[in-house]
Amino acid sequence: MPLKRVDKTPMPERDAVLRSHDFIEVNEGYNIAHARFEAERCLRCQDPVCIDGCPVKIPIPDFVHLIAAGDLAGAAKILRSANPLPAICGRVCPQESQCEEQCSLGTRFVPVAIGYLERFVADWEMGQAPGEEPEQPTRTEKVAIIGSGPAGLVCAGELARLGHPVTIFEGLHAPGGVLRYGIPEFRLPKEVLDWEIDQLKHLGVEIVCNVIIGKTISLDDLFDEMGYSAVFVGTGAGLPQFMGIPGENLNGVYSANEFLTRVNLMHADDFPNADTPVMVGKRIAVIGAGNTAMDTVRTALRVGAEKGMIVYRRSDKEMTARVEEHHHAVEEGVEFHWLTNPVEVLGDEDGWVTGLKCISMELGEPDESGRARPVPIEGSEFVIPVDNVVLSIGNRPNPLLLQTTKGLKSNKWGCLVVEDESAQTSLRHVFAGGDAVTGAATVILAAGAGKSAAAAIHEDLCG
Ligand SMILES: Cc1cc2nc3c(=O)[nH]c(=O)nc-3n(C[C@H](O)[C@H](O)[C@H](O)COP(=O)(O)OP(=O)(O)OC[C@H]3O[C@@H](n4cnc5c(N)ncnc54)[C@H](O)[C@@H]3O)c2cc1C
Ligand code: SF4
Repeated sequence: MPLKRVDKTPMPERDAVLRSHDFIEVNEGYNIAHARFEAERCLRCQDPVCIDGCPVKIPIPDFVHLIAAGDLAGAAKILRSANPLPAICGRVCPQESQCEEQCSLGTRFVPVAIGYLERFVADWEMGQAPGEEPEQPTRTEKVAIIGSGPAGLVCAGELARLGHPVTIFEGLHAPGGVLRYGIPEFRLPKEVLDWEIDQLKHLGVEIVCNVIIGKTISLDDLFDEMGYSAVFVGTGAGLPQFMGIPGENLNGVYSANEFLTRVNLMHADDFPNADTPVMVGKRIAVIGAGNTAMDTVRTALRVGAEKGMIVYRRSDKEMTARVEEHHHAVEEGVEFHWLTNPVEVLGDEDGWVTGLKCISMELGEPDESGRARPVPIEGSEFVIPVDNVVLSIGNRPNPLLLQTTKGLKSNKWGCLVVEDESAQTSLRHVFAGGDAVTGAATVILAAGAGKSAAAAIHEDLCG
């Protein structure tokens, strides 16, 4: 069918039946013809409201215009000046509730596919020779970064560009944070993440894995014993929450973090070639309806589940997953149980999961989050037969650093308290950003926090 100017140029994607059995990326990416056609839809508004919707204020019409003009190097330069992780954000940002939600074209037609264009330019850039020349550090003040998620990676890159010797300490055996252990390969290929990490190494950033600050060494040791002048804490929010319902300890119940880490980081899909297995039966229920829940249920199908279900106590209107993730999950045959709240995990005499007892819900008045409050319908309990249950109802920051560092302050949710402007914590020369400060949020917010903290650290150290 010929493309119409009023429609978004569709993203080429792999067949749903084929892809739901492998980990190859679902979206295939625009080619140059798609990209230029889509870029020409942009009106280059006098008041580009799309920029207001972007957390890092990418000059969107400028890079989109350069794509239309065929100047991809120019587009890449503009893009990267505002967003240090464009190939990642072009794949995982919730554009429909950010830049594209604001786009003026959306009031009468369909918004410009800003995210697809961002990914196109960034992928083109990855195919070119390495851009930035490595520089020798020009400053003597060393900076330690704790955690190698987007906040830590971006902070490290910015500080290295400002001339500081930078070391990232990561507790796991590979860098990337959620980008490696959480978001699956079929949404974010590891080669994209590896490319970004290689750029940092090229800039001189040192990455030390298998070091847990607060356990292997303390935060204070970084200053006292190792001579760092400042520390950035980008430890994320990796502590899973549980519902506290009976049966959560049965065999076959996972947290989404554990389930995804087993597959994405430990390669359980390749067991027994890899050391770590993941036990998946025929029917799996994932509780929650955010990106993590969708990633989990789609991963479960790929590691052998015959039926993957989402169980959520509100309706599809309140789910927090990206529209594209939900759409892909529907295409891949995931079953959705909306307005359904689990009350008990049922098991057999050997302690293995056999079912999920639930109660039907209806929506009441909005709660403090502004979303309609789910209210149980009395006497409506029923059982869904399942072999596995995965909880994906949210994460909080891990308390380890707080427990082992005197004077580091947090709020009631365990998030580090920082000054708005400087990102400095309650401790001098200790800065923080990303999910460790905001609680579970988004990649672009973590990247943006890493970038502004780097500027604040440089200012703190060099005046
Ligand atoms: C499954 C899943 C899917 C998601 N999908 C999306 C999406 O589609 N779009 C989106 O925008 N966001 C998504 N998010 C959210 C997004 O990934 C996070 O907001 C983002 O990664 C936060 O970045 P961060 O750098 O703050 O922390 P993280 O990415 O969590 O990285 C923190 C790192 O610090 C390390 N660490 C922790 N404590 C220590 C310590 N004491 N010593 C050393 N290292 C330590 C951890 O091992 C980890 O590697 C998703 C999250 C999950 C879990
Ligand atoms: S609001 Fe939409 S049409 Fe206008 S400049 Fe931004 S992307 Fe282009």
